[in-house]
Amino acid sequence: MYELVICHLYPDLMNLYGDRGNISVLIRRAQWRGINVRVIPISIGDDIPSEVDLFFMGGGQDREQRLLAPDLVNKKGDKLRKLAERGVVFLGICGGYQLFGHYYKPKDSTRLDGIGILDVYTEAGDKRFIGNVFVKSKINCYEDLTLVGFENHSGRTYLGRDAKPLGEVLIGYGNNGEDKLEGAWQRSVFGTYLHGPLLPKNPWFADLLIEKALSNKYGTIKLSSLDDTLELKAHRKAIEIISK
Ligand code: GLN
Repeated sequence: MYELVICHLYPDLMNLYGDRGNISVLIRRAQWRGINVRVIPISIGDDIPSEVDLFFMGGGQDREQRLLAPDLVNKKGDKLRKLAERGVVFLGICGGYQLFGHYYKPKDSTRLDGIGILDVYTEAGDKRFIGNVFVKSKINCYEDLTLVGFENHSGRTYLGRDAKPLGEVLIGYGNNGEDKLEGAWQRSVFGTYLHGPLLPKNPWFADLLIEKALSNKYGTIKLSSLDDTLELKAHRKAIEIISK
């Protein structure tokens, strides 16, 4: 019997636009395959549990990011970097994504260091990027798939040499409203601006994360397919609405 251990980082502070719904999707899609799931929430002052397979961090406003950044960087940063190097899966949404990078500089305050598990940096601009987003995946061997979601951020994120984009923006702003790229990934660390929550309408991406997390722990695992009729209907409806 396989077990998936998920560590939810700062759920009390980082949960914009229902981002915690991504945890529910990971739990159910694993359980539907007979995989046991344990979710361990941790926040400021907590130690990182041992044996975590997947870390999740949702989005948050500048205020919450400023509150937790010292703990994330000074107390948890070294261990999280080591785990990322060992292939543990990370998913950061928006504010979480930004703090997975080297730094996030809010518009009117000093910059917040990140943990550098993604080779990206973020600097806030005057205009907020708000709206629905439609993305064509650029993740190798998933190029024919798409992602839909909702974005609301002032941060402009730019990728360094070691990071690859999750996808190409077909509709929306994406990382910075300039290079038509959305999100970033390297090794098994993923960051995206897509709220929604992201995973219910993008089931292939949820399975990619679960498969990577379990394969890193047990050796290569291929998940059985599920009946995603409802999820794909929601995905197509979102594209229809976004494309109007
Ligand atoms: N506070 C960050 C920004 O405005 C992240 C926002 C978010 O998580 N939605 O860019």
